[in-house]
Amino acid sequence: MAFTGSTRSDAMGGPDPGPRTDRGGLMLDIRRIYVEPAAAASPRGAEILARFPDAVRVEVDSHHRIPELYGDETNVNRWVRIKREALVLGVKKSLTARPNGRSADFIAPSTANGCAMACAYCYVPRHKGYSNPVTVFTNIDKIGGYVRRHAGRQGVKPAPNECDPRYWVYDIGENSDCSVDALISDNVRDLVTLFRSLPNAKASFATKYVNRDLLDWEPRGRTRIRFSLMPAGDAKLLDIRTSPVADRIAAIDDFVAAGYEVHVNLSPVVVRDGWLADWAGLLDQLDAGIGPAAKAQLAAEVIFLTHNRDLHEVNLGWHPKAEELIWRPDLQQGKRSENGFWNVRYRTGAKGRYVAALTDLIAERTPYCRVRYAF
Ligand code: SF4
Repeated sequence: MAFTGSTRSDAMGGPDPGPRTDRGGLMLDIRRIYVEPAAAASPRGAEILARFPDAVRVEVDSHHRIPELYGDETNVNRWVRIKREALVLGVKKSLTARPNGRSADFIAPSTANGCAMACAYCYVPRHKGYSNPVTVFTNIDKIGGYVRRHAGRQGVKPAPNECDPRYWVYDIGENSDCSVDALISDNVRDLVTLFRSLPNAKASFATKYVNRDLLDWEPRGRTRIRFSLMPAGDAKLLDIRTSPVADRIAAIDDFVAAGYEVHVNLSPVVVRDGWLADWAGLLDQLDAGIGPAAKAQLAAEVIFLTHNRDLHEVNLGWHPKAEELIWRPDLQQGKRSENGFWNVRYRTGAKGRYVAALTDLIAERTPYCRVRYAF
């Protein structure tokens, strides 16, 4: 079964980056489903398999170990095909809600990981290899039950914080894009429904894809969608297979009217010649593109680019133009992370000035938009 949607990509002279808006878009065309036996036997797994009756089923012992999907870090044409055509169904074994404190109070246990899109800076593939198609976890009943009990143990939120003034916020999309996941299964819808019934908690996820199916879900203010935005010129080069930035802005009013809280995720902010002028243009585009109801509830998180040497080396093989933008040793400093990655970020000192310049610009161009955090 193929799902169509408005997606963007660009002619960057490298590999085929996937579906193009002018062809109508084609995010998923699932032909092969790798499935753990326990996932196939579960009600959610059976539903998903029934949605793709023509797909070839391949039984796997573990959703983590599928060499034909997760190997080969250099063949991006193959990744895009895998992202469009492959789906993995597994069972999420360890359920935890990790404290976060920035975009959310807690990171909920994932109902999916992997992504059908292919942003050049994305950290999600580091864990599973670069093709990294969507894996859906079919034990949604267990995941939902865990979240319900975890929220129940928190009680009333004692004081406002930068995540939310009133509710405990659970990020439900740390390792995937929930708007795309919703093309595959009802997992995200089930969580939106669950949070509607919790007295003290709210779901939240960032997205780069406009899926208007979500407009019928009646979230009643208890799901926050954070549409990710960056200047269109940067997105053209970096946000591969996503919805165009203009489409994301154009969707905001509709999602607010449908009962979502809608924030913007201004990330990653890429520093280059003319970056601040382009962000001014983006903020003006946002201001012109949304109405009073959206403005009254808008907030933003601002995250400057971090990058990673391994990802840089992989990207050089398929998309060197993106690396000209995001690998800038003249502006960045490196640090080895706890798990051994060599990560880079803009240099201390200069970074503070960039953050101040952009937050000042937000105050000037979109003064109603509260900045929840910026770093
Ligand atoms: S949409 Fe998000 S998860 Fe998907 S590739 Fe882009 S940054 Fe990664």
